[in-house]
Amino acid sequence: MLSCKGLVGLSSDLLDGELSLKQRLAVRAHLAMCVRCRRFIRQLRVSQRVIRQLPDADVPELEALLQAMQAQRQQDAD
Ligand SMILES: [Zn+2]
Repeated sequence: MLSCKGLVGLSSDLLDGELSLKQRLAVRAHLAMCVRCRRFIRQLRVSQRVIRQLPDADVPELEALLQAMQAQRQQDAD
């Protein structure tokens, strides 16, 4: 039986979908019985979603925009 500590150790791999079937089953069995770990995993999922929503993908666009603005400003200066 997986302990709470064991579950925490597996949690990041769980969210990344990198657990073996056996590990997933152990995690699921533990979560079925343990409210604290259910809450922990839910919290972890929420923060992971927030992190993924950070505009990493927009950074190249932002940089391109910035460069375009700088180029424009240089043209204006000429
Ligand atoms: Zn637990």
